[in-house]
Amino acid sequence: MIAENLKQVLNELPAGVRLVAVSKFHPNEAIEEAYRAGQRIFGESKVQEMDAKHESLPQDIEWHFIGHLQTNKVKYIVPYVALIHGIDSYKLLAEVDKQAAKANRTVRCLLQLYIAQEETKFGFSFEECREMLQAGEWKNLHNVQICGLMGMASNTDNVEQIRKEFCSLHEFFEEVKSTWFAGSDSFKELSMGMSHDYHEAIAAGSTLVRVGSKIFGERNY
Ligand SMILES: *Cc1c(COP(=O)(O)O)cnc(C)c1O
Repeated sequence: MIAENLKQVLNELPAGVRLVAVSKFHPNEAIEEAYRAGQRIFGESKVQEMDAKHESLPQDIEWHFIGHLQTNKVKYIVPYVALIHGIDSYKLLAEVDKQAAKANRTVRCLLQLYIAQEETKFGFSFEECREMLQAGEWKNLHNVQICGLMGMASNTDNVEQIRKEFCSLHEFFEEVKSTWFAGSDSFKELSMGMSHDYHEAIAAGSTLVRVGSKIFGERNY
């Protein structure tokens, strides 16, 4: 079932869009099934859970951290994480840099932008993000690489609203790229789209979709 769902989602992705299979709250067996079907990028949102899965599953899996990351937990994932999607403050970015230096790594990160109408989502506002980038301190952090932006649309059935939010993030991505990352080959990822809205996200320029329940089924929290 998982292998079939995976294939179905993969078939819908145009060239240049990669799939993060969001395996949070699902057991190792589920991940192994997707792995056997060829999937290598998995997304998790809890540090302890990702640590345990990283320890016990094949070492060529690319682990993406997609949840809200607390500064005191950064050190646990930094030695192996492939991409942190949810950088929502300069303080967090600086902590990742500090821990990455200790681990002798450069850790790839995405800045999370707040684009939804709900109060519950984390992330910079566009203005906060501009201010942080303009301040320029991030340029002294040599063990993190800002590779793009991430955002979550409102949890709504209003497709027009979702489209509008994704398009606003794409527009902001272009602004950030041309203003602060012109000439950088590594600033190229736009992480947006989940099970219920990845088609809209792809239409709006997503390069990384984060799909969970459509592949693994409903989660039992
Ligand atoms: C859980 C989660 C997803 C996947 O959600 P589905 O609706 O199961 O596809 C994607 N992104 C983030 C940040 C998540 O927390």
